[in-house]
Parts: sequence; structure tokens; C-alpha cells
Amino acid sequence: MDLEKILETLKNKGYATAYFEKAEEAGEYLDKIIDNKTVGFGDSATLLSMNMLQKLSTHNEVFDPQNCSEEMEFIATAKKCLSTQIYLTSVNALSATGEIVNIDGTGNRVAGSLFGHEKVYFVIGINKLVPTLEKAIWRARNIAAPKNAMRLGLQTPCAKRGDRCYDCTSPDRICNGMVIHLKKMNDIEMEIVLINEQLGL
Ligand code: SF4
Repeated sequence: MDLEKILETLKNKGYATAYFEKAEEAGEYLDKIIDNKTVGFGDSATLLSMNMLQKLSTHNEVFDPQNCSEEMEFIATAKKCLSTQIYLTSVNALSATGEIVNIDGTGNRVAGSLFGHEKVYFVIGINKLVPTLEKAIWRARNIAAPKNAMRLGLQTPCAKRGDRCYDCTSPDRICNGMVIHLKKMNDIEMEIVLINEQLGL
């Protein structure tokens, strides 16, 4: 796929863009520009692998629901993340036509990606990039969500078999809402940080 053209498409949809060959470079970039802010994290294996919590915590006030042990603490921290100055998350899929797709179980990740911040950063490995919106939805449902269910050790058919979504009725189901960003939301800055490495799920 033509990365230059994809970045241009994203710019035309109102997003700021940054491109890096390596996750380490992207991490240094984010660590430099996000300073002395309140920062919220959306659940993201990509950000976890980049150690962004450790990096940003040294000079920002950071809230990360993934680092909570008790359910109440998770909810309280996730709520704080909805009104921080900066919000960081990744995506389940990005289409070459510029749509972002994310599936969520609790809703905190997708809620934070839509509203309530000065700026949202979507940090995205190249493995999330697919040609069309249709394929992005397919990837979110059949690749990202099952992998996430496996990572979390959930009792879902996708986690047991690891091959696709079974549109389950499991109490552990993590696919309750799907958000498609067609274009940058109004009255908020959004930046897509694309990295030429396999990152996240
Ligand atoms: S709906 Fe159920 S089976 Fe499908 S990906 Fe989500 S948790 Fe897995």
C-alpha cells in the first residue's frame, strides 16, 4: 500500500499525522511532545509494548485503567481518562481509505477516543492497516477481538479456538460496541502516529 497516499488521505480528513519506521522513535516523539499534561490511556497492547506508561509518568499525570487491580478502581480510573488533556490509544484496524475501527466491551476506550480532550493520539502499527473499511471491520471482529480475548484469558469461543469471531453470547464477550471514525471529530485535535512495525493485536 502507498503509505504517502494514506497519510495524505488522513490529513484530508483533518488528522495530524506522524510516521516512524520504529516504535522506539515514535515513543521518543510522544515522550517529547506530551509534557506536563494529564494523560489518559485507552486499553492498548501497542502502548503497553512501547512502555508509554513508564515513559510519560515521569513528567505527566497519567491514568491507565490497565494498571488497576480492583473492578471499582478500574471504573474510577477509566472515568478519569475521559477528561484528561491528552488521550492515547491504538486501533483495531485502519483502512487505507482513512477510517479507524475500534471494538470495545466496557466502552471506556472508544468513549475516550471521541470527546473530552485537547488532543487524542492514535498510535498504530502497520499490521493494523488494511485496504478498505469492510476489511477493517472484518479485522477488528475476527483478528483483533479474538486475540484480545486470548490475551485476557477469557472464556469465549474465539479465545479457545483463536481463529475467528463466533458472535458469542458468552458472559465474557468483549465485543459490545464498535466505533468507526469516518473523519476527525469536531473541536478536538487528533493525530495518527503510524509505525512501520507489527504492534499490538
Ligand atoms: S463476539 Fe465473542 S466470539 Fe466474537 S470476537 Fe467477541 S468475544 Fe470473541
